[in-house]
Amino acid sequence: MKLENIKNYIGGKFREPTGGQYLENYEPATGKVYSYIPDSDERDVEAAVGAATAARSDWAGLKPEERAKWMMKLADAIENDMDLYVAAESKDTGKPVSLARAMDIPRAVSNFRFFAHTITQFSSESHFMQGVGINYTLRSPLGVVGCISPWNLPLYLFSWKIAPALAAGNTVVAKPSEVTPYTAWLLSKTCAETGFPPGVLNIVHGLGHKTGEAICSHPEVKAISFTGGTSTGKRIASVAAPMFKKLSLELGGKNPNIIFADCDYEEMLSVSVRSSFANQGQICLCGSRIYVERPLYEKFRKDFISRVSGLVTGDPHDGETNIGALVSEQHMNKILSYIDLARQEGGIVLTGGEKIIAGGRCSQGWFVTPAVIEGLDQSCRTNQEEIFGPVVTIAPFDTEEEVLAYANGTGYGLSATLWTQDLNRAHRMAEKIESGILWINCWLIRDLRTPFGGVKHSGVGREGGLEALRFFTEPKNICIKYH
Ligand code: NAD
Repeated sequence: MKLENIKNYIGGKFREPTGGQYLENYEPATGKVYSYIPDSDERDVEAAVGAATAARSDWAGLKPEERAKWMMKLADAIENDMDLYVAAESKDTGKPVSLARAMDIPRAVSNFRFFAHTITQFSSESHFMQGVGINYTLRSPLGVVGCISPWNLPLYLFSWKIAPALAAGNTVVAKPSEVTPYTAWLLSKTCAETGFPPGVLNIVHGLGHKTGEAICSHPEVKAISFTGGTSTGKRIASVAAPMFKKLSLELGGKNPNIIFADCDYEEMLSVSVRSSFANQGQICLCGSRIYVERPLYEKFRKDFISRVSGLVTGDPHDGETNIGALVSEQHMNKILSYIDLARQEGGIVLTGGEKIIAGGRCSQGWFVTPAVIEGLDQSCRTNQEEIFGPVVTIAPFDTEEEVLAYANGTGYGLSATLWTQDLNRAHRMAEKIESGILWINCWLIRDLRTPFGGVKHSGVGREGGLEALRFFTEPKNICIKYH
């Protein structure tokens, strides 16, 4: 059977890559190639930027309500094709179908709807100077912007960038991860089917250092919104910052999950299993370093291991599956090598960490059971570097100061979770924890209006709500003097 060739979507048309080259696209659960994606180069990016430039003034000239209507159409169309999108996201990433249905695709729909609503409520500032005059601020779209996203939450994060960029009146050249291109391909088909204005959203597939870098270095692309690894963010900044582009960088994390003995134990336990291993631990917000107050440590250790070892790793199609496949063979090998490293560093693997052969159609898939590791020093590589897989470390602590030092003791600062019933302690620690996001007695509750992003090596800038609309617009202050 001939496998499908995904195409670029440029100026409202489906196009082969100019160089005629394609890359293999794998299904992680089976380890088999199931489609091909364009290996685009700077010529394809040039064409996409040209189409976005041509569409710019018409799109920016629409009233916010009209842009919002188009975005609502996209949201409705994705929702109508929910089953198709859910199956595609699961197949492309290896995540359980149930997770794609509960989280990924509904959130992509919400992203379009949320920013369609938000742009109709967006307003600019005015600063009155008594007896002198008045300043008012105009906020204009930037023009053509670049959106580059990773593989872990493909359509969810792709749309999280595209939606505010479009709502604010920009035209977009977007690149999904080459590891998980399929739902972006479906989105381009949805754009064509709904008659979405050509050239407003252009999707170019390909490799990061080639297609991605061509977007970042193109002089007509005025801003880059990027989500991915910290070292990629550094590379992108080195290309785009000297060109004075606006940059939003959402990068890696090594998030602490801090558990005090006075927590609501059952709630903490079940949420901690999820915050450790949802999406095979491949969510930038997963808590990968678990610190437990000593009086609770032995009980937690026993109960947590029992819950984690009960998680079912296997076929993403199976309704019983909790842990699906890892996204690629390369990523699986990276995770297994970190588990080896943890052992060399003196860690004891209490459960999991094994590559398994799943049955039936998944016998060649990339599956690793969720691992819990104990006995490591806080400064070791396992506790310092982002693993981005189903691996957590656990350790006891005695005092608030000690656990704060552990929590803040890495180069990252994306998110943190804190479990305690003591309100004073919660507020005290919230102020001191170095992260862009902190969940207290919960995890991954998302209000799309809130600022989203990290500190230190976890990123620069904030996404979400008005922050995203401000990023995708340029403010101009106008000062009028009166007599
Ligand atoms: P990655 O950095 O390898 O790739 C991300 C995207 O950047 C891909 O589309 C890739 O093709 C592209 N890219 C790679 N090199 C490029 C270059 N030189 N120029 C332009 N584009 C380039 O990341 P990944 O492996 O796909 O994703 C995992 C990483 O993403 C983890 O570090 C994770 O923490 C991070 N992440 C962060 C957030 C957040 O919100 N902070 C969310 C999800 C994932």
